[in-house]
Amino acid sequence: MAVVDHFLNGSISDATTDKNRFADVFNPCTGDIAKQVRLATASDVDSAVAAAKAAQPDWAALNPQRRARVMYRFKALIEEEMDSLAALLSSEHGKTVADARGDVQRGLDVVEFCCGVPQLLKGESTQGAGPGIDVFSIRAPLGVTVGITPFNFPAMIPLWMLAPAIATGNAFILKPSERTPSVPLRLAQLLSEAGLPDGILQVLNGDRTTVEALIDHADVKAVSFVGSSDIAQAVYARGAALGKRVQAMGGAKNHGIVMPDADMDQAVQDILGAAYGSAGERCMALPVVVPVGERTADELRDRLVAEIPKLRVGVSSDPEADFGPVITAAHRSRIESYIDLAVSEGAELVVDGRGLALQGHDNGFFLGPTLLDQVRPDMKSYQDEIFGPVLQIVRADSLEEAISLATCHQYGNGVSIFTRDGGAARQFTDSVEVGMVGVNVPIPVPVSYHSFGGWKRSAFGDHNQYGMDGIRFYTRTKVVTQRWPTAGRSSGGSFVIPTMS
Ligand code: NAD
Repeated sequence: MAVVDHFLNGSISDATTDKNRFADVFNPCTGDIAKQVRLATASDVDSAVAAAKAAQPDWAALNPQRRARVMYRFKALIEEEMDSLAALLSSEHGKTVADARGDVQRGLDVVEFCCGVPQLLKGESTQGAGPGIDVFSIRAPLGVTVGITPFNFPAMIPLWMLAPAIATGNAFILKPSERTPSVPLRLAQLLSEAGLPDGILQVLNGDRTTVEALIDHADVKAVSFVGSSDIAQAVYARGAALGKRVQAMGGAKNHGIVMPDADMDQAVQDILGAAYGSAGERCMALPVVVPVGERTADELRDRLVAEIPKLRVGVSSDPEADFGPVITAAHRSRIESYIDLAVSEGAELVVDGRGLALQGHDNGFFLGPTLLDQVRPDMKSYQDEIFGPVLQIVRADSLEEAISLATCHQYGNGVSIFTRDGGAARQFTDSVEVGMVGVNVPIPVPVSYHSFGGWKRSAFGDHNQYGMDGIRFYTRTKVVTQRWPTAGRSSGGSFVIPTMS
């Protein structure tokens, strides 16, 4: 059986203190255990952090332009390997190869942004802030930083973190999802090939034990996490209690509001792609639609019912497939149990995706597109994140009611409105309590030079991912106020707080 190892001190490594800690990695299209991944222990964490700590000062001392050149080469190497990275990614995740290319590209965009790190690290300065006094600020790296990533974006999310962390002069230890570990490992090899000194990027595969040892380690200065909300909150609390900088992104339940004046042809296509793409396993998926008014709701439902049978569920290498399997059999069972729950709570099961078997792939983790209508806010199946190809219709009587649904939901990652009315769109964008907002854009993931982050239980901590917030998260600001001895100017000490008056 193939084993996925760690990446330590510049090369793939099976060095570990416990040779018996492994997790299974499935091929979701066949249901087979394809590989095993090694799980690091607390003492493996100690070794990785020690090596990262030793390497970091020299890397931080390089001028930012030289660090940027490594990023440029890394970007070129990823572009050269785009096809094989996408194929490797989809073989472990199950998303289509076309979608996997998007996963890599979105991460690549952040690497590209980080190629501008000399400009991004420039501080502020004031000459003559007082008599002979100049003030300037410096953005200094933190030291050893850590990132823990989920299964659903094995290229994009590691790159969201490692590119700004490393470009700003930190060492970075990545703990990828144990369900999709191979692409992060390959990215580490490419960054090494691009010229990154050994020890600056370590990839430690692992589980909860590994994560907790990383958070607790005294030499780890900052922790970035993306995953489900309960774990995000626990990671945030654990790191913050130790005085560390933590950003922890969690789950989501994004709403798409459909107004009576929406371009219905476009809205239906956008909703189908955003609800069912990647089998709904995206934190920016659109699993809830909120049509405003009964006529809008009936029309939307009829159109969805007509379109859903045309969707093609297939193996990830099928170029015609709209989406592939979900990640594991256990996750499929969990999604199915939410469909049962919704029905028992009184929702109407309009399209049932359960029981889908693909010929020749009977043991794959496939689940067809599912549509539920008459879903109400008091239902647990509405309140929880399902994270599968399940779309719920929640009918609203007014725009205000629709906005209030998204605002009152425990999650606040993304939200969209479909309308031709600028006034309605403005009322929506002004008042909705959600971090990433779309107007006729179903998946409003910000581009790499803005920042990504939700509100409420979708994110814990103050800094968002990538963009300028990424640079801020991985640096701390030092402000220098300086005066040089000048001939003829001397003054006694003062016991009064210095002012510029
Ligand atoms: P998960 O929370 O199960 O795992 C995320 C990471 O945490 C993995 O690396 C895992 O090994 C580790 N982990 C698991 N249990 C842990 C524990 N008890 N203590 C510490 N670490 C632990 O998430 P997942 O199933 O891999 O990913 C799907 C979830 O991630 C969904 O909830 C999705 O919405 C969310 N997500 C959020 C964003 C965002 O930016 N908000 C982006 C992508 C995914």
